[in-house]
Amino acid sequence: MSTLRIALQTKGRLNTDSITLLEEAGINVEDPGRKFLTRSSSFPVELLYLRDDDIPQAVSMGAADLGIVGYNEVLEKEAPVEVVRKLGWGACRLSLAVPASADYDGLQWFQGKRIATSYPKILRKFLSENGISASVHEIAGSVEVAPSVGLGDAIFDIVSSGGTLVRNSLVEVYRVVESEAVLIANPSVHDDPEKESDLKRLLFRFDSIMKSHGKKYLLMNIPNDSLEEAIRIVPAMRSPTVLPLAQSGWSSLHSVVEEDVLWDKVHALKEIGAEGILVLDVEKLVL
Ligand code: ATP
Ligand code: MG
Repeated sequence: MSTLRIALQTKGRLNTDSITLLEEAGINVEDPGRKFLTRSSSFPVELLYLRDDDIPQAVSMGAADLGIVGYNEVLEKEAPVEVVRKLGWGACRLSLAVPASADYDGLQWFQGKRIATSYPKILRKFLSENGISASVHEIAGSVEVAPSVGLGDAIFDIVSSGGTLVRNSLVEVYRVVESEAVLIANPSVHDDPEKESDLKRLLFRFDSIMKSHGKKYLLMNIPNDSLEEAIRIVPAMRSPTVLPLAQSGWSSLHSVVEEDVLWDKVHALKEIGAEGILVLDVEKLVL
Protein backbone atom coordinates (compact mmCIF):
# COMPACT_ATOMS: atom_id res chain seq x y z
CA MET A 1 0.00 0.00 0.00
CA SER A 2 1.71 3.20 -1.09
CA THR A 3 0.91 6.45 0.66
CA LEU A 4 1.39 9.93 -0.77
CA ARG A 5 3.81 12.01 1.24
CA ILE A 6 3.52 15.82 1.16
CA ALA A 7 6.33 18.09 2.35
CA LEU A 8 5.34 21.42 3.88
CA GLN A 9 7.04 24.21 5.77
CA THR A 10 7.42 23.52 9.51
CA LYS A 11 6.95 27.17 10.42
CA GLY A 12 7.22 30.44 8.57
CA ARG A 13 5.13 32.36 6.10
CA LEU A 14 3.75 29.42 4.11
CA ASN A 15 2.94 27.13 7.06
CA THR A 16 -0.53 28.42 7.99
CA ASP A 17 -1.84 28.73 4.43
CA SER A 18 -0.48 25.28 3.54
CA ILE A 19 -2.30 23.73 6.50
CA THR A 20 -5.49 25.68 5.71
CA LEU A 21 -5.44 24.37 2.13
CA LEU A 22 -4.99 20.77 3.33
CA GLU A 23 -7.70 21.10 5.99
CA GLU A 24 -10.15 22.62 3.48
CA ALA A 25 -9.41 19.65 1.22
CA GLY A 26 -10.52 17.32 4.01
CA ILE A 27 -7.05 16.33 5.24
CA ASN A 28 -6.87 16.46 9.02
CA VAL A 29 -3.54 17.92 10.03
CA GLU A 30 -2.62 17.07 13.61
CA ASP A 31 -0.17 19.31 15.43
CA PRO A 32 3.17 17.63 14.68
CA GLY A 33 4.65 18.62 18.07
CA ARG A 34 8.26 17.48 17.91
CA LYS A 35 7.63 14.96 15.14
CA PHE A 36 8.59 15.75 11.58
CA LEU A 37 6.37 13.12 9.97
CA THR A 38 2.65 12.68 10.69
CA ARG A 39 -0.17 10.76 9.07
CA SER A 40 -3.61 12.20 8.37
CA SER A 41 -6.54 10.32 9.86
CA SER A 42 -8.95 11.39 7.12
CA PHE A 43 -7.02 10.94 3.84
CA PRO A 44 -4.21 8.53 2.95
CA VAL A 45 -1.31 10.99 3.16
CA GLU A 46 1.74 11.54 5.31
CA LEU A 47 2.95 15.06 6.05
CA LEU A 48 6.67 15.77 6.21
CA TYR A 49 7.64 19.01 7.96
CA LEU A 50 10.79 20.71 6.63
CA ARG A 51 12.57 24.07 6.25
CA ASP A 52 11.32 25.58 3.01
CA ASP A 53 14.85 25.49 1.54
CA ASP A 54 14.85 21.69 1.81
CA ILE A 55 11.46 21.03 0.21
CA PRO A 56 12.45 21.11 -3.51
CA GLN A 57 15.27 18.63 -2.90
CA ALA A 58 13.13 16.39 -0.67
CA VAL A 59 10.65 16.13 -3.55
CA SER A 60 13.23 15.69 -6.31
CA MET A 61 14.95 12.92 -4.32
CA GLY A 62 11.65 11.19 -3.61
CA ALA A 63 11.70 11.67 0.19
CA ALA A 64 8.29 13.25 -0.45
CA ASP A 65 6.01 12.81 -3.49
CA LEU A 66 4.58 16.32 -3.27
CA GLY A 67 5.61 19.61 -1.71
CA ILE A 68 4.08 23.01 -1.01
CA VAL A 69 6.73 25.71 -1.36
CA GLY A 70 7.49 29.11 -2.84
CA TYR A 71 8.30 29.02 -6.57
CA ASN A 72 11.38 31.12 -5.76
CA GLU A 73 12.85 28.17 -3.83
CA VAL A 74 12.07 25.74 -6.66
CA LEU A 75 13.91 27.97 -9.14
CA GLU A 76 16.89 28.57 -6.89
CA LYS A 77 17.39 24.90 -6.08
CA GLU A 78 17.07 24.01 -9.79
CA ALA A 79 15.21 20.93 -8.60
CA PRO A 80 13.93 18.62 -11.34
CA VAL A 81 10.34 18.61 -10.08
CA GLU A 82 7.00 19.13 -11.77
CA VAL A 83 5.07 22.27 -10.83
CA VAL A 84 1.57 20.77 -10.62
CA ARG A 85 -0.41 23.82 -9.52
CA LYS A 86 0.13 27.48 -8.75
CA LEU A 87 -1.75 27.97 -5.51
CA GLY A 88 -2.63 31.68 -5.73
CA TRP A 89 -1.14 32.80 -2.40
CA GLY A 90 2.33 33.54 -0.95
CA ALA A 91 2.86 36.09 -3.73
CA CYS A 92 6.20 37.88 -3.81
CA ARG A 93 8.94 38.70 -6.28
CA LEU A 94 12.71 38.54 -6.45
CA SER A 95 14.00 42.01 -7.22
CA LEU A 96 17.17 44.01 -7.47
CA ALA A 97 17.26 46.96 -5.08
CA VAL A 98 19.81 49.74 -4.65
CA PRO A 99 20.39 52.37 -1.93
CA ALA A 100 18.00 55.31 -2.30
CA SER A 101 21.05 57.58 -2.58
CA ALA A 102 22.51 55.71 -5.58
CA ASP A 103 22.50 57.39 -9.01
CA TYR A 104 20.81 54.40 -10.62
CA ASP A 105 20.41 54.81 -14.37
CA GLY A 106 19.46 51.36 -15.62
CA LEU A 107 20.71 47.78 -15.39
CA GLN A 108 24.22 48.80 -16.50
CA TRP A 109 24.58 50.45 -13.08
CA PHE A 110 25.24 46.94 -11.72
CA GLN A 111 28.45 46.48 -13.78
CA GLY A 112 31.30 45.78 -11.37
CA LYS A 113 29.07 46.10 -8.31
CA ARG A 114 28.77 43.67 -5.37
CA ILE A 115 25.27 42.27 -4.89
CA ALA A 116 24.19 40.51 -1.68
CA THR A 117 21.57 37.77 -1.97
CA SER A 118 20.23 34.44 -0.69
CA TYR A 119 19.38 33.51 -4.28
CA PRO A 120 22.79 33.29 -6.01
CA LYS A 121 21.81 30.88 -8.79
CA ILE A 122 18.83 32.92 -10.02
CA LEU A 123 20.87 36.12 -9.77
CA ARG A 124 23.93 34.74 -11.63
CA LYS A 125 21.69 33.48 -14.43
CA PHE A 126 19.95 36.85 -14.73
CA LEU A 127 23.26 38.76 -14.74
CA SER A 128 24.80 36.56 -17.40
CA GLU A 129 21.68 36.74 -19.59
CA ASN A 130 21.93 40.53 -19.41
CA GLY A 131 25.67 40.75 -19.97
CA ILE A 132 26.36 42.23 -16.55
CA SER A 133 29.50 41.26 -14.68
CA ALA A 134 28.93 41.87 -11.00
CA SER A 135 30.07 39.89 -7.98
CA VAL A 136 27.47 37.89 -6.14
CA HIS A 137 27.78 37.67 -2.35
CA GLU A 138 25.71 34.92 -0.84
CA ILE A 139 24.32 35.63 2.61
CA ALA A 140 21.77 33.51 4.43
CA GLY A 141 19.49 36.13 5.97
CA SER A 142 18.86 39.85 6.63
CA VAL A 143 19.97 40.61 3.09
CA GLU A 144 18.29 44.02 3.26
CA VAL A 145 20.81 45.35 5.80
CA ALA A 146 23.83 44.32 3.67
CA PRO A 147 24.44 47.67 1.89
CA SER A 148 24.22 49.71 5.11
CA VAL A 149 26.92 47.59 6.77
CA GLY A 150 29.19 47.46 3.73
CA LEU A 151 28.29 43.90 2.70
CA GLY A 152 27.51 44.88 -0.88
CA ASP A 153 26.46 47.80 -3.08
CA ALA A 154 22.99 46.44 -3.80
CA ILE A 155 20.75 43.50 -3.00
CA PHE A 156 18.73 40.86 -4.81
CA ASP A 157 15.97 39.70 -2.48
CA ILE A 158 12.32 38.81 -1.91
CA VAL A 159 9.94 41.77 -2.00
CA SER A 160 6.22 41.68 -1.30
CA SER A 161 4.85 44.97 0.07
CA GLY A 162 8.19 46.76 -0.23
CA GLY A 163 8.05 47.96 3.39
CA THR A 164 11.32 46.27 4.34
CA LEU A 165 13.13 48.05 1.50
CA VAL A 166 11.77 51.45 2.53
CA ARG A 167 12.81 50.87 6.15
CA ASN A 168 16.35 50.16 4.95
CA SER A 169 16.52 53.12 2.54
CA LEU A 170 16.55 50.87 -0.53
CA VAL A 171 14.69 51.26 -3.81
CA GLU A 172 13.42 48.36 -5.93
CA VAL A 173 14.77 48.93 -9.43
CA TYR A 174 14.16 45.68 -11.31
CA ARG A 175 11.73 42.78 -10.84
CA VAL A 176 13.43 39.59 -11.97
CA VAL A 177 11.04 36.77 -11.01
CA GLU A 178 7.41 36.66 -9.84
CA SER A 179 6.69 33.96 -7.29
CA GLU A 180 3.80 32.38 -5.39
CA ALA A 181 3.27 29.17 -3.47
CA VAL A 182 3.20 26.12 -5.74
CA LEU A 183 2.41 22.43 -5.42
CA ILE A 184 5.35 20.44 -6.75
CA ALA A 185 5.62 16.72 -7.47
CA ASN A 186 8.24 14.11 -8.10
CA PRO A 187 7.36 12.96 -11.64
CA SER A 188 7.51 9.31 -10.49
CA VAL A 189 4.25 9.86 -8.59
CA HIS A 190 2.44 9.25 -11.90
CA ASP A 191 3.96 5.76 -12.21
CA ASP A 192 2.35 4.47 -9.02
CA PRO A 193 -1.37 3.86 -9.75
CA GLU A 194 -2.40 4.23 -6.11
CA LYS A 195 -0.50 7.50 -5.59
CA GLU A 196 -1.64 8.83 -8.94
CA SER A 197 -5.27 8.19 -8.07
CA ASP A 198 -4.94 9.85 -4.65
CA LEU A 199 -3.18 12.79 -6.29
CA LYS A 200 -6.09 13.17 -8.73
CA ARG A 201 -8.58 13.22 -5.84
CA LEU A 202 -6.43 15.78 -4.05
CA LEU A 203 -6.14 18.03 -7.12
CA PHE A 204 -9.90 17.85 -7.65
CA ARG A 205 -10.36 19.19 -4.11
CA PHE A 206 -7.63 21.86 -4.43
CA ASP A 207 -9.15 23.06 -7.71
CA SER A 208 -12.62 23.28 -6.13
CA ILE A 209 -11.20 25.38 -3.30
CA MET A 210 -9.26 27.65 -5.65
CA LYS A 211 -12.28 28.16 -7.93
CA SER A 212 -14.40 29.26 -4.96
CA HIS A 213 -11.96 32.06 -4.10
CA GLY A 214 -13.29 35.49 -4.96
CA LYS A 215 -16.84 34.14 -5.33
CA LYS A 216 -19.93 35.04 -3.28
CA TYR A 217 -23.29 33.33 -3.00
CA LEU A 218 -26.14 35.77 -3.36
CA LEU A 219 -29.81 35.25 -2.50
CA MET A 220 -32.66 37.72 -2.55
CA ASN A 221 -36.38 38.20 -2.92
CA ILE A 222 -37.40 39.71 -6.23
CA PRO A 223 -40.76 40.76 -7.71
CA ASN A 224 -41.65 38.41 -10.58
CA ASP A 225 -41.88 41.40 -12.96
CA SER A 226 -38.15 42.02 -12.44
CA LEU A 227 -37.03 38.38 -12.69
CA GLU A 228 -35.82 38.52 -16.28
CA GLU A 229 -33.77 41.64 -15.63
CA ALA A 230 -32.33 40.12 -12.43
CA ILE A 231 -31.23 37.01 -14.31
CA ARG A 232 -29.38 39.27 -16.78
CA ILE A 233 -27.58 40.97 -13.86
CA VAL A 234 -26.56 37.74 -12.05
CA PRO A 235 -26.57 34.98 -14.68
CA ALA A 236 -24.68 32.42 -12.48
CA MET A 237 -22.82 29.50 -14.06
CA ARG A 238 -25.67 27.85 -15.94
CA SER A 239 -28.60 29.93 -14.76
CA PRO A 240 -29.71 31.15 -11.33
CA THR A 241 -32.07 29.15 -9.12
CA VAL A 242 -35.57 30.67 -8.90
CA LEU A 243 -38.05 29.49 -6.27
CA PRO A 244 -41.56 30.86 -5.73
CA LEU A 245 -42.18 32.66 -2.44
CA ALA A 246 -45.31 31.88 -0.39
CA GLN A 247 -46.45 35.43 -1.20
CA SER A 248 -47.66 35.51 -4.80
CA GLY A 249 -45.89 37.75 -7.30
CA TRP A 250 -42.49 37.23 -5.64
CA SER A 251 -39.60 34.77 -6.09
CA SER A 252 -36.40 33.90 -4.31
CA LEU A 253 -33.37 34.08 -6.61
CA HIS A 254 -29.99 32.42 -5.84
CA SER A 255 -26.79 33.02 -7.77
CA VAL A 256 -22.99 33.18 -7.54
CA VAL A 257 -21.02 36.33 -8.41
CA GLU A 258 -17.39 37.42 -8.49
CA GLU A 259 -16.53 39.40 -5.38
CA ASP A 260 -14.98 42.29 -7.31
CA VAL A 261 -18.30 43.11 -9.01
CA LEU A 262 -20.47 42.25 -5.98
CA TRP A 263 -21.42 45.82 -5.00
CA ASP A 264 -22.23 46.86 -8.59
CA LYS A 265 -24.57 43.87 -8.85
CA VAL A 266 -26.18 44.57 -5.45
CA HIS A 267 -26.91 48.20 -6.43
CA ALA A 268 -28.35 47.12 -9.79
CA LEU A 269 -30.56 44.51 -8.09
CA LYS A 270 -31.81 47.02 -5.51
CA GLU A 271 -32.80 49.35 -8.35
CA ILE A 272 -35.11 46.75 -9.87
CA GLY A 273 -36.79 45.98 -6.54
CA ALA A 274 -34.72 43.19 -4.94
CA GLU A 275 -35.21 42.88 -1.18
CA GLY A 276 -33.55 40.96 1.62
CA ILE A 277 -30.31 40.44 -0.29
CA LEU A 278 -28.06 37.95 1.52
CA VAL A 279 -24.37 37.55 0.63
CA LEU A 280 -22.62 34.34 1.76
CA ASP A 281 -19.11 32.94 1.42
CA VAL A 282 -18.54 30.12 -1.07
CA GLU A 283 -16.32 27.47 0.48
CA LYS A 284 -15.94 25.06 -2.44
CA LEU A 285 -17.02 25.12 -6.05
CA VAL A 286 -17.33 21.92 -8.07
CA LEU A 287 -18.08 22.56 -11.73
P1 ATP B 1 12.42 28.35 6.77
O1 ATP B 1 12.66 28.46 8.23
O2 ATP B 1 11.38 27.31 6.44
O3 ATP B 1 13.67 28.20 5.96
P2 ATP B 1 12.35 31.05 5.69
O4 ATP B 1 12.64 32.00 6.79
O5 ATP B 1 13.41 30.70 4.70
O6 ATP B 1 11.72 29.72 6.34
P3 ATP B 1 9.87 32.47 5.13
O7 ATP B 1 10.25 33.86 5.50
O8 ATP B 1 8.96 31.71 6.04
O9 ATP B 1 11.16 31.56 4.79
O10 ATP B 1 9.23 32.57 3.67
C1 ATP B 1 8.78 31.43 2.99
C2 ATP B 1 8.35 31.80 1.60
O11 ATP B 1 7.26 32.74 1.68
C3 ATP B 1 9.36 32.51 0.72
O12 ATP B 1 10.28 31.63 0.13
C4 ATP B 1 8.46 33.15 -0.33
O13 ATP B 1 8.10 32.20 -1.32
C5 ATP B 1 7.19 33.49 0.45
N1 ATP B 1 7.03 34.94 0.76
C6 ATP B 1 5.95 35.69 0.45
N2 ATP B 1 6.11 36.96 0.84
C7 ATP B 1 7.29 37.04 1.43
C8 ATP B 1 8.02 38.11 2.05
N3 ATP B 1 7.54 39.35 2.15
N4 ATP B 1 9.24 37.83 2.56
C9 ATP B 1 9.72 36.57 2.51
N5 ATP B 1 9.07 35.54 1.93
C10 ATP B 1 7.87 35.76 1.38
MG1 MG C 1 14.22 29.04 4.25
